[in-house]
Amino acid sequence: MARQFTEDTLIVASHNQGKVLEIAALLAPYKMTVTSASACQLDEPVEDGDSYIANAAIKAKAAAITSGLPALSDDSGFEVMAIDGDPGLYSARWAGADKDFSVAMQHVHDAITASGKTDTSCRFVCALALCWPDGEIVTTQGIIDGHYVWPPRGNRGFGYDPMFIPDGYEQSFGEVDPEWKHAVSHRAIAFQQLIDLCFQDTPRQP
Ligand code: IMP
Repeated sequence: MARQFTEDTLIVASHNQGKVLEIAALLAPYKMTVTSASACQLDEPVEDGDSYIANAAIKAKAAAITSGLPALSDDSGFEVMAIDGDPGLYSARWAGADKDFSVAMQHVHDAITASGKTDTSCRFVCALALCWPDGEIVTTQGIIDGHYVWPPRGNRGFGYDPMFIPDGYEQSFGEVDPEWKHAVSHRAIAFQQLIDLCFQDTPRQP
């Protein structure tokens, strides 16, 4: 059985406000204080792993060891099949130093156009790592498949949401109610696995 989370504070080891909000919403049913790496002024470690799980583990471990509190991190990416899974592990970097995702989405669209391929399939992948200050780690991974649209649609969500439509639906992640996205996303799938593994004994909000 995996280690159970029974502490009363958890750090979300991310400086990405979109992710912090989404993870805090997923943790809302549990009785705990959720804080973030930015609020605790933790440095961002170099993400030089060769997989989402490796990068999530790097971030969670750095935050847990520096803060002395359990830390939960997310490493995720957008993968477009027509361009061999790019931007993938480098999804954040395609937005440049300004973290401008309209620029990143335009790069993706330009790369797809240059590829000459008509395959519109793509997916979001999310790895989660929960690390305790003694270094013990539990990791999970979730995937949601879909297809891209151009031009991007909607101004909700974050990152590549406006160009992603999940399979079986007609609205992009940039158009849907965030509550609905939180329930079905790659992050929700990875999160449910983590809940099943580590949050069975965690007190819930009354
Ligand atoms: P990292 O995990 O911090 O390296 O960044 C992953 C990047 O993938 C984010 O900055 C977003 O651009 C993109 N991404 C991951 N999850 C989502 C999502 O749910 N919606 C939109 N973009 C996402």
